[in-house]
Amino acid sequence: IERTISIVKPDAVGKNVIGKIYDRFESNGLKIVAAKMKHLTRDEAEGFYAIHKERPFFGELVEFMMSGPVMIQVLEGENAVAKNREIMGVTNPINADVGTIRKDFADSMSENAVHGSDSLENAQIEINYFFQPEEIF
Ligand code: ATP
Ligand code: MG
Repeated sequence: IERTISIVKPDAVGKNVIGKIYDRFESNGLKIVAAKMKHLTRDEAEGFYAIHKERPFFGELVEFMMSGPVMIQVLEGENAVAKNREIMGVTNPINADVGTIRKDFADSMSENAVHGSDSLENAQIEINYFFQPEEIF
């Protein structure tokens, strides 16, 4: 059993589809074992995406992630990291498979509705970044 981090990004929170996105997780065998709504500060957004700080889109990404509240959750289940990435669809919604979150709720490569940890190692780092052990059930 694995755990992974999922973030409903500001575009999807603004579109009022948190519940629809949560349904995708639950319908696919992922359990929400922790959740919090948060409006990220610049420091929090930059720290979270620090691995991308040399990428040309880093500034845009940080501004977007600070543009409104996000919903952050820990998902638990069999192969949770890969399963969540599958349910999300690929980064650019134009290329995302039918039935994925990004195909259904994202508008562009930069405003793409959700984040998901990309490895078990990064999942642990990202869980520790946002949650204390006693906040996870
Ligand atoms: P995430 O890490 O948010 O789950 P991802 O793993 O699919 O997404 P990454 O390559 O890690 O994609 O990029 C992180 C985020 O940076 C993307 O989700 C997207 O919002 C933004 N991003 C990535 N590539 C670009 C780009 N070429 N132009 C604009 N924004 C981009
Ligand atoms: Mg990523």
